[in-house]
Amino acid sequence: MKCDICKKKIAETFLGKPKGTYIYDENHKKKLICFECESRYKSDKSKMLEAMK
Ligand SMILES: [Zn+2]
Repeated sequence: MKCDICKKKIAETFLGKPKGTYIYDENHKKKLICFECESRYKSDKSKMLEAMK
């Protein structure tokens, strides 16, 4: 799994869940964001979606 902003690989927990945050874009597509990007954009969803374009 990769971060949809910085494209860095996101580690998974032992349960196979990625250590990141899911957000949904305007087309209801699931996007994965690493914690670094999430804090860089202060969890602002619209800014994070803008950053992926
Ligand atoms: Zn990232």
